[in-house]
Amino acid sequence: QAKKDGRNTFRFYDLNMDKQQEEQLMLENELRKALDKNELSLYYQPIIDLQSSKVISVEALLRWKHPSMGMISPAKFIPIAEENGLILPIGQWVIESACRHLRTLDLKGFTFIDIAVNLSIRQFYQTNFVSIVANIIRETGINPTRLHFEITESMTADVQLTTSILNELKTLGVSISIDDFGIGYSSLSYLRSFPINILKIDRSFIKNIPQNKEDQDIATMIIFMAHKLGLKVIAEGAETSEQAKFLVENGCDMAQGYYFSYPLNMKELLSYLGENASLIGD
Ligand code: C2E
Ligand code: MG
Ligand code: MG
Ligand code: MG
Repeated sequence: QAKKDGRNTFRFYDLNMDKQQEEQLMLENELRKALDKNELSLYYQPIIDLQSSKVISVEALLRWKHPSMGMISPAKFIPIAEENGLILPIGQWVIESACRHLRTLDLKGFTFIDIAVNLSIRQFYQTNFVSIVANIIRETGINPTRLHFEITESMTADVQLTTSILNELKTLGVSISIDDFGIGYSSLSYLRSFPINILKIDRSFIKNIPQNKEDQDIATMIIFMAHKLGLKVIAEGAETSEQAKFLVENGCDMAQGYYFSYPLNMKELLSYLGENASLIGD
């Protein structure tokens, strides 16, 4: 292709590649300093219990605000951190910060709110992951039953290893959710063997509800199957009242999405929980 386009095009293409690699390298260097420079923070997106219409949980979402480049999406920098191993210190910082914030929620009286933390593959498979988590739980003094970890289907490839890590985490008292459920290529058989609690229906299946009949059927089927397996279901990416209504009517347990709230910083979250008295528990 490049050859056919002639020499100039090829060199242009080549130059482009360098630019991309350069940007990658630059981001990597900046990310190395980001933790120490306090550029990382956690935002929290409320998760609504659809039966009671109350906030019962929040998902921690990592944000990187670079002084000159501005906000950089986790979709962009997490793969870099995963590649160069920075995900280990960053991931640990995320769990620690989320647990400290859980204590803050406690002190403000929001003792019924759980916190969900996303894990990356490399973090999950590091040799001492379970003891790192155990230490954080002990040091922050949180109630482990209020801590949820979100893993993706791609992290279930090694069934034996995954099962043993999940069982150890379970022993600590934490809950496990399967994130982005439905878009992975893994077999469903792991749902039987893994000690998981929650399936999160990927946003792509919610996006075109109610127009798309197939997506309606897929969502309904996931809810049915999850309940058969004794799992709870969270729908991701609910953006409209029609979608929220559809999820309620089809027995989905929980939902999150812009319809209910954008991800909020800690200060915004506290005022959201305070203001939405009808949304929160007693
Ligand atoms: P995710 O875990 O599936 O998180 C949900 C993503 O959907 C978030 O994007 C959230 O802001 C976005 N979202 C929520 N509601 C809606 C909606 O109604 N419409 C649309 N269009 N989007 C919605 P975000 O914050 O950019 O995070 C992207 C991904 O980055 C996350 O996907 C997760 O895989 C990863 N991530 C975020 N924080 C962490 C972290 O602390 N550790 C790890 N390992 N990964 C993280
Ligand atoms: Mg998630
Ligand atoms: Mg997700
Ligand atoms: Mg998703």
